[in-house]
Amino acid sequence: MLKHLSFKWPVACEFIRESILASIDDGDWGAYHGRYTDRLIKYLQQWLSVEHALLCCSGTIAVELALRGAGVSAGDEVVLAAYDFPGNFRAIEAIGATPVLVDVQAGGWVVEPNDIAVAISEKTKAILVSHLHGQIANVRKIKTIVEASGYPVKIVEDACQSPGGSLDGRPLGALADVGVFSFGGSKLLSAGRGGAIVTDDETIAQRIKVYSERGNDSFPLSQLQAAALLPQLDQLSELTGRRFQSAAFLCEQVNQVEGLSTLGFSTMTDHGANRQSVNAIYKIPVRVDAEVDVETFVDRLAADGLPVGLGFRGFYRRSQRRCRKPVELPNSKIAAEQTLLISHPVLLHELATLELIVSCLKQNLMSIH
Ligand SMILES: *Cc1c(COP(=O)(O)O)cnc(C)c1O
Repeated sequence: MLKHLSFKWPVACEFIRESILASIDDGDWGAYHGRYTDRLIKYLQQWLSVEHALLCCSGTIAVELALRGAGVSAGDEVVLAAYDFPGNFRAIEAIGATPVLVDVQAGGWVVEPNDIAVAISEKTKAILVSHLHGQIANVRKIKTIVEASGYPVKIVEDACQSPGGSLDGRPLGALADVGVFSFGGSKLLSAGRGGAIVTDDETIAQRIKVYSERGNDSFPLSQLQAAALLPQLDQLSELTGRRFQSAAFLCEQVNQVEGLSTLGFSTMTDHGANRQSVNAIYKIPVRVDAEVDVETFVDRLAADGLPVGLGFRGFYRRSQRRCRKPVELPNSKIAAEQTLLISHPVLLHELATLELIVSCLKQNLMSIH
């Protein structure tokens, strides 16, 4: 039904081609450091108003480096939501620290701030907070809770899925003590692979540099990758706006389908010239009713040509030997079992395509009921 359409990502783009060719022509493409990485660092510093921007080889490594920068070491605890990117749990384990699970917000995919108050202990070194599937985590409330706890806990903000988004005029990724981005192949900003860490905190930046430099730069992002990224940064804000508009339309339609629901992206609120909150949308999350077999549904949609997948499996079932579970995790279980994710390339298509997608969802849902 959708097979005649292309949802390929990244799309072929003349600007990216020119930028990569320029890096080859001027002979800079092979180096780890040089004019392209310098420009990328400057761009990130200015765009996000941060002191330090460190480039690295992936979002997964960026999360681990950010945690190490925040002072996490073996035996410490790191709080994160039981529904999150799988690598985030592993990044904590890689350091020898213990993940402490809290729930996500009811009906959503981001961490429930009130649970953090319960989970924090004298062992907690960091809270890992991800903006997921277009939903913005309530970083401001989390900061208040962390401050009230009296413990010296750092907040690590995972903005891998949401470059270009903002909360009350502040860009996502720059809301907490340290923020991370991914430039992986499917991500909104893509260098095929790559990541970045941003912070205002001198100590965090220094710790990351010391850990990364082992005679050479161990987790670099190359000049070639930076050359591929630079032109995308100029287009990001326009594309974020287009994706947001499309997602609002799509979600409104999906919410009229019985058995499916979305958050609707109604959270874009304009508090005046530069106090806007904008959702950056990498995956559109759809909640599927409990009686529907989500795996079959996803398979059929994929067979029709829709770029879809299941949500994260989450960690709510992880053994107590691998993590601490101070609160109940019912919302994380629902998020893990009843989420369908539609990939962002559909959002750069026309409204007619979005309407086709809604029909495709409806028909396939009826066919399995
Ligand atoms: C993709 C992603 C990562 C990891 O990024 P990679 O560059 O793929 O290693 C981390 N966190 C979240 C939320 C992600 O979506």
